[in-house]
Amino acid sequence: MLVKRLDLKVGFACNNNCRFCVVSNKREKGNKTTEEIKTDLKNSRDCGVSGVVFTGGEVTIRKDILELVSYAKDIGYETIQLQTNGRMLAYKTFCKKTISAGANQFCIALHGHIPELHDFLTRSPGAFNQVVQSIKNLKALGQFVTTNTVITKPNYKFLPEITRILLKYKVPQFQLAFVHADGNAWKNFDMIVPLKTLVRPYIYKSIDLASKTKTVAMVEAYPFCFMKGYERYCSERFIPPTEVKDVDYSIPNFDETRKNDGKCKGPQCKECRYDLICEGPWKEYPQKRGWNEFIPVPGQKIRSYNELV
Ligand code: SF4
Repeated sequence: MLVKRLDLKVGFACNNNCRFCVVSNKREKGNKTTEEIKTDLKNSRDCGVSGVVFTGGEVTIRKDILELVSYAKDIGYETIQLQTNGRMLAYKTFCKKTISAGANQFCIALHGHIPELHDFLTRSPGAFNQVVQSIKNLKALGQFVTTNTVITKPNYKFLPEITRILLKYKVPQFQLAFVHADGNAWKNFDMIVPLKTLVRPYIYKSIDLASKTKTVAMVEAYPFCFMKGYERYCSERFIPPTEVKDVDYSIPNFDETRKNDGKCKGPQCKECRYDLICEGPWKEYPQKRGWNEFIPVPGQKIRSYNELV
């Protein structure tokens, strides 16, 4: 499979401390050096990879981020995405500098519809207002802005309200990602991880709101058996073949690792019509909650994402 995208972890320092942070256990690994990151970029580019997602940790708090983005542009990356908590991009001057350096996609995290909720989840007072400002700044500068919202117990009832904010600012694409119960989310499991079945009506409502507009909605780590009539919004079908370069290891084909090590299937999945294309949930969820919520869907087996209507 031809890898199209490099998922480049620049390190794990962050100016948020989210209650659900999936990489909180990696914080002590610190950050990569400028030269290490440039080497990662060069090696992947030499193998024909044309897109890079700078991720972490928080990429925008690095002093060398503009130099790194500029380097990625110079060596021929076409798509250069910053995956960010959005706080630094509240400064319009900084937005302009990242764009000038070569960033052309921004994926911003929004986890609440009001400061009290977003700031509670991120444990960062003022973060909500900064995120909203960052979206406004980037849209005003004509940038392609997507967002990611981690679905948690404190925020799931407000997913439609979060969606309304995104529609108000004409974000072209957003993802609702069911929390991956690793790191802080595992430590805070009972406070953070909702029942998958309880979340469903709020996901449907969010998709319904988006579908009246041009905004594209996607839902991650929420298998097909919960998405009756909404199966085509499952985001796994859109994830390009991805290589991961972490701080101390690399994964040449993350698709396989995600499916085989990160996620899992239940004993009843073989009876489900989506078994051949479904990745199942992140494995930590059924470790805690079991498989009772996952009801196999009857019918002829679906063999390809293209068969989803
Ligand atoms: S294969 Fe399993 S997890 Fe996937 S949709 Fe079917 S029952 Fe749900």
